[in-house]
Amino acid sequence: MKTNRRSFLEKTGLGALSLLLSNRLFAKSSKSMDGLTKAKGPIFLSTWTHGQMANEEALRVLANGGSGLDAVEKGVMLIEADPEGSSVGLGGLPDRTGKVTLDACIMSADGNCGAVCMLENILHPISVARKVMEDTPHVMLAGDGAYEFASANGFEKVDLLTKKSKAAFKNWKKEQKYKPIINVENHDTIGMLGMDEKGDIYGSCTTSGLAYKMRGRIGDSPIIGAGLFIDNEVGGAVATGLGESIIKVAGSAIIVELMRHGYSPQEACEEAVNRIVNNEDTKDIQVGFLAISKSGETGAYAIHPGFNFAISNQEGTRLVNSDYLVK
Ligand code: ASP
Repeated sequence: MKTNRRSFLEKTGLGALSLLLSNRLFAKSSKSMDGLTKAKGPIFLSTWTHGQMANEEALRVLANGGSGLDAVEKGVMLIEADPEGSSVGLGGLPDRTGKVTLDACIMSADGNCGAVCMLENILHPISVARKVMEDTPHVMLAGDGAYEFASANGFEKVDLLTKKSKAAFKNWKKEQKYKPIINVENHDTIGMLGMDEKGDIYGSCTTSGLAYKMRGRIGDSPIIGAGLFIDNEVGGAVATGLGESIIKVAGSAIIVELMRHGYSPQEACEEAVNRIVNNEDTKDIQVGFLAISKSGETGAYAIHPGFNFAISNQEGTRLVNSDYLVK
């Protein structure tokens, strides 16, 4: 059985004092970061401006009778197929050998999850991740194995390089400088959290990772607990930004666990950012988190300015600038 907040406190023997303190935290946590979402679903929350398109697609999927899982899959598929996006799927910038390698994961309200990493030549890594979840006894497939699995399941071979990404790579090759820079084209993973009408929570995350990364580099995005985590009793969280920093603190898992212990989604995102900042020099590192609780309350926080996200509910879709630490 999963541990709820009260039984955790009882089990850890923290007693009345802790209960009092955490109840105070709980009480203080009632305000949502944008004052928009206190109601139950459907609510969709996605990273960056492309999140608007993705959320609206997810709402359409639900309205047409699709499941919450269908919604978070189909929502991000739209971004994977967009040749203009330089950090997800088609048109994504390649690694330093010129190959586009994709990372994705999906997590369902029932706690099941699937992921692929370093997948090449497949348009919809998120759908392969879902297939891994539904049709194999495993959680993650990597590289050639992931490609063979996708191919055997009818996914076509696609050249993901576009004219634009080829030209960008050619240009990069001239100097071959690599440094993660905040809020530029190399930080635009789509991560989506969705709550359906029943209040069940789902999530998806898909990316081509950092532009010009070392061959074989895997970021946080396909790693359950780092790039994405859902616990349908508590809430969900998703991350974007420098994957190495997110993995080091198990970013999304920590946010959900903090919510289990009484933090609001906003407080939990802030604490996850604090942990990163306490861990390393973040002058040139951007990370952004989104979170949703079981009551439909939302949170968002980043290290630096510039992180934005889309939030959609029955009242419509809005692009919101996230709050951040370094003012
Ligand atoms: N988190 C991704 C990675 O490290 C990058 C991003 O969010 O754009 O691969």
